[in-house]
Amino acid sequence: MMVIVAQTIMSHITISLFHSSVMTQRRVRVRFAPSPTGALHIGGVRTALYNYLFAKQHGGDMVLRIEDTDSARFVPGAEDYIIESLAWLGIQFDEGVSFGGKYAPYRQSERKEVYQRYVKQLLDAGKAYLAFDTPAQLEAKRAAVPNFQYDASTRAEMCNSLSLSADEVSERLARGEQYIVRVKIEPHEDIVVHDLIRGDVHIQSTILDDKALYKSADNLPTYHLANIVDDHLMEISHVIRGEEWLPSAPLHVLLYRYFGWEETMPQFAHLPLLLKPDGNGKLSKRDGDRLGFPVFPIEWHDPGSGEKSSGYREAGYLPEAVINFLALLGWNPGTDQELFTMDELIRLFSLDRCSKSGAKFDYEKVKWFNHKYLQQQANSVLAPYIAAELAERGIASSPQKIVAAIGAIKERATFTADLWELCAFFFVAPVTFNEKDIQKRWKEETPELLHALLEKLETIDSFDDIEATENDVKTWCQAREYNLGAVMNPFRLTLVGEMKGPQIFVITQLLGKHETVKRLRYALETIK
Ligand code: GLU
Repeated sequence: MMVIVAQTIMSHITISLFHSSVMTQRRVRVRFAPSPTGALHIGGVRTALYNYLFAKQHGGDMVLRIEDTDSARFVPGAEDYIIESLAWLGIQFDEGVSFGGKYAPYRQSERKEVYQRYVKQLLDAGKAYLAFDTPAQLEAKRAAVPNFQYDASTRAEMCNSLSLSADEVSERLARGEQYIVRVKIEPHEDIVVHDLIRGDVHIQSTILDDKALYKSADNLPTYHLANIVDDHLMEISHVIRGEEWLPSAPLHVLLYRYFGWEETMPQFAHLPLLLKPDGNGKLSKRDGDRLGFPVFPIEWHDPGSGEKSSGYREAGYLPEAVINFLALLGWNPGTDQELFTMDELIRLFSLDRCSKSGAKFDYEKVKWFNHKYLQQQANSVLAPYIAAELAERGIASSPQKIVAAIGAIKERATFTADLWELCAFFFVAPVTFNEKDIQKRWKEETPELLHALLEKLETIDSFDDIEATENDVKTWCQAREYNLGAVMNPFRLTLVGEMKGPQIFVITQLLGKHETVKRLRYALETIK
């Protein structure tokens, strides 16, 4: 039903370009208003990011409001998860749940009395009414009337305070009968949603249904009412949110009208959808599972099902990489620049450069960003990852060697988790050697060549000077008319255990003469 209404609204929308500036006199105040119904999807993170960039650029405020009025969908732990995720990414709030502020409380479940007041205001003004139809009655109506919509043309046939006599309404209330409050949509009114990304979106009020605003059963408002009332009371100037909320916007505009708050209505900006990496359609958790990437910022343990879902943090991503990637999913700077710090994003971001059409979620790109940001990390900052692996294995080493080892292999790493795998051989001598590499590189003449090399290496005092060692060994090779590859390839195999690793004399420098010679000897005894 929800979906049908949404589609109907979308198909009635006509768009004209609307050039609106943010040159309002009002202080810029934005909010991120998630419902704690589970893990925060990566699209929600993008929404939070764009709100944050916009607020900071305008020296405004960023508010965290928790929209938890749908008790049936409430998931314990989701709120903490949202706060922890955004903190990890460096998206900061000025006010809100867990941050405090002068509009507190910011959790909607703690604002019941506020909403009751405003529901009453609408009822008193005749902009809303009580509806007593039971779920079974509504179901029967929908089954009988195709595309049934509760609105001006049908409400007289239904069971509500407009169709029933005042006495009957009072009796029902006295009996404690449950009701919902519905907004009384006036038909044939023009509604324009000024959207800073999409331009003016025009629709006719006639296509809207009399949405529920409040339920007596739990004394809680629905999303629409709580959202509008709070945006108004919290003096929100701009509502920046995902495209999936565009169908709700006309009703929100109408509610502002019915409340008499049009003057201070926030400006809207509906961000483009995040699309699957392959094909069309909205990015879903299933796409992540299917193609092997997280759709959540940090790991999520579903308290209901016990299911664990991967997160970018635990998968080894740096927050800067995730931010940079998300910033470009729906916004572009209009230049070729791809790497942006948060400060640069705050300076350059603009809603004008946000696209209307969906943004394809290119997972290879986030890996690329991570690789780039990993390269920017100082080796000493990455050192703890290696130190931890060494400690776990009881291997002693020096901070200098760890830092140097990281420097030697970092450019091959995409994730911090790759670091150990790439540089373990610096700290652990190979015991066995890769079979395939032996077959390919270990020829009949290899032992003789390597024995000669061993003698040569013994004559070099220290391997500290990479270039000097290289020149020395290469000159020696040439003088003996040895094929360089025939010596160096099996030499690498003896030091690393397989054909990988950085430049060979970077390896010998880091291992030092004693360890290099030892490994070479061992291999000569072991490889047959
Ligand atoms: N509670 C809604 C959500 O979960 C907020 C939508 C809005 O920003 O208006 O996204």
